[in-house]
Amino acid sequence: MFVYADNAATTKMSPTAIKAMLPYLEENYGNASSLYAFGQKSAEALAAARSTVAGCLNAEPREIIFTSGGSESDNQAIRSAASWGARFGKKHIISTAFEHHAVLHTLRRLKKEGFDITLLNVHENGIVTPQQVSDAIREDTCLVTIMYANNEIGTIQPIAEIGRICRERGVWFHTDAVQAAGHLPIDVKAQNIDMLSLSAHKFHGPKGVGALYVRRGAPLETLIEGGAQERSKRAGTENIAWIAAAAAALREACEHMEENSARVTALRDRVIDGLSAIPHSALNGDREHRLPGNINFCFEGIEGESLLLLLDDAGICASSGSACTSGSLDPSHVLLAIGRPHEVAHGSLRLTLGEYNTEEDVDRILAEVPRVVEYLRGMSPVWKDLESGKTRHQL
Ligand SMILES: *Cc1c(COP(=O)(O)O)cnc(C)c1O
Repeated sequence: MFVYADNAATTKMSPTAIKAMLPYLEENYGNASSLYAFGQKSAEALAAARSTVAGCLNAEPREIIFTSGGSESDNQAIRSAASWGARFGKKHIISTAFEHHAVLHTLRRLKKEGFDITLLNVHENGIVTPQQVSDAIREDTCLVTIMYANNEIGTIQPIAEIGRICRERGVWFHTDAVQAAGHLPIDVKAQNIDMLSLSAHKFHGPKGVGALYVRRGAPLETLIEGGAQERSKRAGTENIAWIAAAAAALREACEHMEENSARVTALRDRVIDGLSAIPHSALNGDREHRLPGNINFCFEGIEGESLLLLLDDAGICASSGSACTSGSLDPSHVLLAIGRPHEVAHGSLRLTLGEYNTEEDVDRILAEVPRVVEYLRGMSPVWKDLESGKTRHQL
């Protein structure tokens, strides 16, 4: 038995989601664009899924388009607002230094295309303030894109207030809610959100399917040209099975959000309390305003990579940064953004729990992590220097 503690990277599909997709893999394989009744069954499933997703966000069905996931939704939202801005001579975009690479790399590309990008620094607690956003908005700002919850350190941003400021100042507001959807309440109207990205595999749906919410009247440009699917905003024959499963998973997650959140938060807090006892360690990100399942620590004097490999041997799946950057030697851009020095950021560990984790999983984590940290420190020249006073402890 192994402990899966990497739910921010992806989640296990729920039985409900698997069940929802089966009819469209087996008997109802028709093309939703076909006119005969058989194809119309797929069209009906597509419409039902769209209503479900819209309902979970307090949006209208026509404001939802299905995509291949969070990355595509982020690309499309940002590109749409940027094209709108370019038409009106507004080529300034505001975001943060700790966004997902789907956002940061899209912005990097736009910069090459002549846009001016402001990346707000994040406070040590991993939270951007509405005031920072307000101060950064200019006459030529077309878009503010700020994530709802961070995928590495789990911190939750004051989305509703940021949205209100953007609305007042006439700037489009997009939020990458990939970590939030299904885990935190979302109400696009109450939270003043113009565009929102979500991805099914982060809430027990299948990989390769997501959605983009675009408020009626907000800009929406086509990235993938072709047929008239998704109101001509996203061509390609719809993957009905995956879309139906995504909708079922989101509905299930939203219906059980309160109880799941309470249970997962309790597991998380046991891990945070337990790991805090390790000397020269620090929790990354605000303790209160964080995702129910997120635990992210820095341990001085060790390498996150070695920690992960030894935890893997002990049957624990964890992460050192985001899955996209692990494997590279650069420390996490998120940890650097909240001001962790390079050498400390290298010794990071992210554990992300979900609905399927148990008290026994937490027991295993609390037994193995301190043991592995101590073992690695015992062999680490960096740790020896810290202990002998040759270099100074930073945590
Ligand atoms: C996982 C993730 C993405 C990318 O979603 P995919 O569906 O894997 O493309 C984007 N943003 C955040 C915050 C994520 O956690």
